[in-house]
Amino acid sequence: MNTTSDFDRFAEWFDVLAVTHRLTAGADLRPKMRAEYFAVLAPYSLEAVTDAYESLRRKMKKWPVPADWLEALPRTSSVDRLPALTGDEMRDTEEAERLAYEQPEICRCHLCVAADCHMPPLYVPRTDREGGTLERRHPIRRGKAVLLGEWLHGQRLKAWYVARAQFYELKAKLDADAKAKRALTPEERMQRLITTSRSTIAERT
Ligand SMILES: [Zn+2]
Repeated sequence: MNTTSDFDRFAEWFDVLAVTHRLTAGADLRPKMRAEYFAVLAPYSLEAVTDAYESLRRKMKKWPVPADWLEALPRTSSVDRLPALTGDEMRDTEEAERLAYEQPEICRCHLCVAADCHMPPLYVPRTDREGGTLERRHPIRRGKAVLLGEWLHGQRLKAWYVARAQFYELKAKLDADAKAKRALTPEERMQRLITTSRSTIAERT
């Protein structure tokens, strides 16, 4: 919800609930409350908040606080429940998509220079404190959640490239091991098993 007409719709629902659910707050406080409740619900789509209102209107026995509104948002469409991308987030996302998540050139910003990092910045998903990704709703493209991302610079960018190199090194090693194993004939495998079990027995005794 982001337009004046959305606010007007919301204010109407708020006022209906204020009557039916006997809001005790005085008239002087109500505009402030309305604005505050709207701010909490603003990241969600008008359709989702409409559903929440319909549900609260029928089910709530007491005045619904913002947490009740949030709980009443529809669960069926999980993307509709997500906060919308802000203007800045949308610009960043679109720029990253356009560049295929990797800047075309090596960066010379102070972070990259200080870290002695000579790699093009990469766009990676941002994570919360628990390591989970942050999902948002695209205001136009429906259906699929957008992952919030950020450009890596400096030490973090360097660490990413090191981690990737280590991953490929490990993968190459595992692939080579698997290939070597596959290359053995059944007799060779049997022989290897016997040798291994012998040496294990020898170790035990
Ligand atoms: Zn940089």
